Amino acid sequence: MHQLDQILSEVAGYHPSADLALIRRAYTFAAEAHDGQTRKSGDPYVTHPLAVAQVIAELKLDVSSVCAGLLHDCVEDTSATVDQIGDIFGKEVAFLVDGVTKLGKLPYSTREEQQAENFRKMLLAMARDIRVILVKLCDRLDNMRSLNHLPPEKQERIATETMQIYAPLANRLGIQWVKIELEDLAFKYLNTGEYDQLAADVAKTRAERLEYIHTVEKTIQKEMADHGVPCEVMGRAKHLWSIYQKMKRTQRPFEDIHDAIGFRVITDSQMHCYHALGVAHQTWTPIPGRFKDYIALPKPNLYQSLHTAVIGPRGERIEVQIRTQEMNLVAEHGIAAHWKYKEGKPVAADDDKKFAWLRQLMESQKELRDPTEFLESVKIDLFGDEVYVFTPGGDVKALPKGSCPIDFAYAVHSSVGDHCSGARVNGMIVPLRYQLRNGDTIEIITSPNQKPNKDWLKLVKTTRARTKIRYLLRTEQRDKAIALGTDLIDKAMRKAGTTVSRAEKQLQAAARELKCVNTDELIIQVGYGKITAQQVVDAALPDAKGAGVAPVEKAESLLKTLMRKVTRRTSSSGIKVAGEDDVLVRFAKCCSPLPGDPVVGFITRGRGVTVHRRDCDKGLDLDPERRIDVDWDGTSNAQHEVAIQVLCADKPGLLAHISQSFTDQSVNISQAHCRATEDGRAVNTFHALVRDLDQLKGVIRSLSRIKGVYSVDRVAAEA
Ligand code: MN
Repeated sequence: MHQLDQILSEVAGYHPSADLALIRRAYTFAAEAHDGQTRKSGDPYVTHPLAVAQVIAELKLDVSSVCAGLLHDCVEDTSATVDQIGDIFGKEVAFLVDGVTKLGKLPYSTREEQQAENFRKMLLAMARDIRVILVKLCDRLDNMRSLNHLPPEKQERIATETMQIYAPLANRLGIQWVKIELEDLAFKYLNTGEYDQLAADVAKTRAERLEYIHTVEKTIQKEMADHGVPCEVMGRAKHLWSIYQKMKRTQRPFEDIHDAIGFRVITDSQMHCYHALGVAHQTWTPIPGRFKDYIALPKPNLYQSLHTAVIGPRGERIEVQIRTQEMNLVAEHGIAAHWKYKEGKPVAADDDKKFAWLRQLMESQKELRDPTEFLESVKIDLFGDEVYVFTPGGDVKALPKGSCPIDFAYAVHSSVGDHCSGARVNGMIVPLRYQLRNGDTIEIITSPNQKPNKDWLKLVKTTRARTKIRYLLRTEQRDKAIALGTDLIDKAMRKAGTTVSRAEKQLQAAARELKCVNTDELIIQVGYGKITAQQVVDAALPDAKGAGVAPVEKAESLLKTLMRKVTRRTSSSGIKVAGEDDVLVRFAKCCSPLPGDPVVGFITRGRGVTVHRRDCDKGLDLDPERRIDVDWDGTSNAQHEVAIQVLCADKPGLLAHISQSFTDQSVNISQAHCRATEDGRAVNTFHALVRDLDQLKGVIRSLSRIKGVYSVDRVAAEA
């Protein structure tokens, strides 16, 4: 029988009204798309999607999932597109294929458990439909089954990923047989020597074990029946990986692992569970310390069962679990006790609940006659409140939905956040307001000059980022207040014949009088405008009362303009000072900054903030304590005066050419100085009004093109 027919009859078996024709078409499509491609084994490529579809059918999934299994590699490996698949097989199949393709592109590198956990959540969040994960698991299972055809490095990478990501996912979803097979296959490639040895040891004793299981099963059944306990008994050998784990945990060789066989007794009531326990303990000697009553004291995930270990026939230790059918259902399909207890690390209680819900959905699916009905509605939004993104190193960060690159930067390190000046997402520059999406790789661009600003608070979603930004803004404001306060008090002091540094003692007294903890506090209060400098001078130097009133008041009004947010915009300077755009601003004559120039501001008493170009020499001479961050806000259309020096041949008519260039660029000349030099050249300095740097560059370019012009330079306006 062709494998396709096997799949079809399997699907028809659990889903009588299934659209088998669609599955056939999907097979034909995949066979044609992959035509000519072969697997590493040499088989035609289509044998892989067929095998995947086979596993999907074994999981009794719906027709769309089976089709998606057949088509899952078409988009990635052939010329077929998602749209094409959508046109032929419908949106749902296209969505699943697209989902599986996307998951396949997520880069995974070996990480510690927390990272693996985040990666698993990322897969679930990105899948958005549980079927995407299930198809992906089936894909992985077939890949693992045929891993022997790949080179060793690939084997190791894929096996590691399987062990860390896919086996735990299968476990979480309650698909025990897939989990077990994935683990044993990964084990085989990751610890080949140990695996081969253990497999040989187990095989050697296999017949013996089966017989042993059979004997114990029969004995339990008989004893229970004799005592009137109705039950089902199941014995099974543990899978290799779990035996190996046990050998490692207990530091014992295989021969000493006696409870490699476990027995499960399923009965009808809680009372019969305890009854059955009594029977077991009566039949065989219990091992002290191994009895656990999870019926009276259920595990946090609601798992209930009685566990015991006894010395069974031939002196072998055997594990016995006793529970009711209902308890068994929870244990098998409920939130995985395995996840929590066998894999060591506990997961958040919250996550457990989410998986419990998912498990219930999976469970209820089994009771439906038509699986389509149910699966159509299973869109997973398990982690819809989080978004998972990669660092450039491949770590996964979980952030609240709606987070921006700044949140990510602070999640990496607070200094990265503090100096975050931009971000690249999947290699592309994005604005800081960009909302992170699942699977994005984020690279933060930092700059030593960058500092958090108030606008960031509107963008960030994480408390961490918010707290750090607020802290820095406060510190910065405090520093500014200290600088301003000191300046203001000093000026007022000078009017009274002293200075801040000379009047240290008096200032301490003034601080006490004005109810400030210390001098710093006093200066800050002045900086914030809560206390006036005059009040300080009056308190510090009672004898000099009244001195210097006028200038200090003038300074106070400047302070108010600077530090308080004015609700009505008075003028538009086109400049934001420390994020505020309503501060009194003037442009330094020495360098005449233009919108577009990198700029820096200096607080100047009586004149608000003076804006210099960052590369202005004079700016460097100014007191760094008065330096303040300024930037263009892009709102102003104001004209700015600039000076341009043109060195040219001293030829008649050239000046007319030059002035025509200004006119061509719609720039007015406000002043012109022209002089001839002894070597037959002319130096011309023009003062012109321009809107911004781009316009100036246009003028300079146009002037440079004139024949006879040697050089064109922007110069200081005052020069
Ligand atoms: Mn595949």
